[in-house]
Amino acid sequence: MQMIRSVKSMQSAIRRLRTAGKKIGFVPTMGALHEGHLSLVRRARRENEVVVLSIFVNPAQFSPREDFKAYPRQEKEDKLLAKREKVDIIFYPSEHEMYPPGCLTHIDVDKIAGILCGKSRPGHFRGVATVVGKLLNSVMPDTVYFGQKDAQQAVVLKQMIRDLNFPVAVKVCPIVRGHDGLALSSRNLYLSDRQRREALVLSRGLKEAKKKIVSGERNAQKVIRTIRKKIAARSSGRIDYVACVDADTLEPLKKLKGNILIALAVYFGKTRLIDNIVFRL
Ligand code: AMP
Repeated sequence: MQMIRSVKSMQSAIRRLRTAGKKIGFVPTMGALHEGHLSLVRRARRENEVVVLSIFVNPAQFSPREDFKAYPRQEKEDKLLAKREKVDIIFYPSEHEMYPPGCLTHIDVDKIAGILCGKSRPGHFRGVATVVGKLLNSVMPDTVYFGQKDAQQAVVLKQMIRDLNFPVAVKVCPIVRGHDGLALSSRNLYLSDRQRREALVLSRGLKEAKKKIVSGERNAQKVIRTIRKKIAARSSGRIDYVACVDADTLEPLKKLKGNILIALAVYFGKTRLIDNIVFRL
């Protein structure tokens, strides 16, 4: 497994591999790897001859009040996990490498970046889109793998890739959950035992909502109210949002139909957890 830390070296390594006709799969992450990330790596491994994993905690997607400094960094453990999954290259750039002084260019995706998570995290998706654009230009993969866990992020990035003609295919992989249903996240490390137990209400609420919809409920507001009530009754979580939207466009739904995404964000203490469920009626 090769470790590459500069954009130039990354690009020249990829050029050599491309000339040799290799198919390249790419999994961008912020590290602190868990089974969710590894599911993306395994899929990339099955579908490509070369797998590149990037680890970069991107300061541009954290607001000043958020957890950039505290975000877990586990280079040694991550390297071991990546090696075990037969990753070929880890791209591990420094902040200075990704944002050398004088950087002035950003990628803004209109409309869909300002709703849901974008509402309470202004600038977040600008940071995400900019760094993923830069990573795609560094790794130049055939296919990039994203997780459904970050549903809005996947929609925003697909839009960016389409709009800016990035020559890359996108695959979105299902959410990996713990045995108790909690969606795996690097931020789960921040939760106390009690908060972790309480946070199970998120996946349970989503699962119940899907059941109700599949058995006939079509009123989005009613579904949202039921989930909100359940979270309030069973936990100390502070709800940021619960929303029923079209899974492809993120347009809010009144009457439930088509490809449905129920997404939510809830604070447990200072930790903001997100979860969602997606299904077609
Ligand atoms: P992050 O390191 O949180 O930026 O995540 C890197 C990639 O892993 C993103 O595409 C995430 O959506 C994906 N990911 C994170 N957690 C999970 C999970 N529990 N299941 C599936 N994919 C995930």
